[in-house]
Amino acid sequence: MKKKKLAIVSLMSDGGCHVAFLDMHENILQLLQNVELVHSYMVLDVRRIPDSVDIVLVEGGVRTSHDVEVLKEARRKAKILVALGSCACFGGIPGLSNLFDLYSSLKYVYEKTPTVIKGVIPRENVPEVVGVSPIFRYVKVDFQIPGCPPESKEIMEIILSLAKGEKPTLPTKTVCDECPLGPPRKKPSKLRRIFEPPKPSTCLLEQGYFCMGPVTRAGCGAKCPRAGIPCDGCRGPASKILDQGAAMLNTLATIAYNTIKNFNLRTYSAYFYRYSFASSLIEDLIRKTKVKKK
Ligand code: SF4
Ligand code: SF4
Repeated sequence: MKKKKLAIVSLMSDGGCHVAFLDMHENILQLLQNVELVHSYMVLDVRRIPDSVDIVLVEGGVRTSHDVEVLKEARRKAKILVALGSCACFGGIPGLSNLFDLYSSLKYVYEKTPTVIKGVIPRENVPEVVGVSPIFRYVKVDFQIPGCPPESKEIMEIILSLAKGEKPTLPTKTVCDECPLGPPRKKPSKLRRIFEPPKPSTCLLEQGYFCMGPVTRAGCGAKCPRAGIPCDGCRGPASKILDQGAAMLNTLATIAYNTIKNFNLRTYSAYFYRYSFASSLIEDLIRKTKVKKK
């Protein structure tokens, strides 16, 4: 079988998804029997995305006009374009900044952050900053590999499937379905913060922690709840869920209405929408109606 060409293209990103790819360790040798890596800023000195690449993985979401250009170039050159990681799939944690006016965010970062002295917002020779977006808002995406970071094993399996011309699938169940602590059996008596140690062997949601397991896509083996840490939803919405945060809010409204009745989007969005705010229905609405300050 002729090897397929594989490229990894980075937009606004800390490179964590790229590292998750490299985290395959010796399995990368099996992968390289099926694909030829032709572009990766971490392991190859290739500046331009080569023409006609079979599979392009895009890590990071869109934050600047430069990201948009690179993304469109990647789409033109890709036979199959895959969103790698939750920033590319859903906007990720940076998407929470869309709760704020763009100018206020720039002003805070460049002028008001405590460590800044006489800072100014850079305006010359820099790309225009735009609202954070998952890549599907700009180009057609053929497949998503969610996670922050994505699971290395899943990355490998999906690339191998695509290289063989097969259609890969993601798990359709929720994190609760693979969690040994669940399912939640009773309503929490109060909501708890993460610094209060949980009881072992008991569902975290049942104990009152914000655990996003009921609405989050399975595939990580529920690794956070297994370690006594609530799932914060990094794999995005489970397959039949349209809006991850709204679904979690709905779950909590059923079991802990009194605690969340004073819901405030800015305060709680980091719980409900930590990774998916930029692709949520509510952000869509804000984006369409917001008047941005210049
Ligand atoms: S601890 Fe979280 S993931 Fe596990 S069963 Fe409870 S709610 Fe679901
Ligand atoms: S348990 Fe939740 S936050 Fe942790 S890796 Fe899995 S999906 Fe991500």
